[in-house]
Amino acid sequence: MGEEGWRDFQKVVHEDEEKKKYNNYMFTCPMCNSKNVKKISTVNRATSIAIFGLASNKINKQYECDNCKHKW
Ligand SMILES: [Zn+2]
Repeated sequence: MGEEGWRDFQKVVHEDEEKKKYNNYMFTCPMCNSKNVKKISTVNRATSIAIFGLASNKINKQYECDNCKHKW
């Protein structure tokens, strides 16, 4: 594998990891149309309940955009 092939390989691996991180790009942000949308994990939700209590505005929000930080 030449140097270029190795770079391509790393790019593919990186993109694959990004896709996994962001739900295989299944969702897009309603604010900025970015595909860097994460599902907010139940661990994060449990943590925010524990820290901020039931009044936290993170409750009932399932997705977060990594681009503009919009949650919905
Ligand atoms: Zn966004």
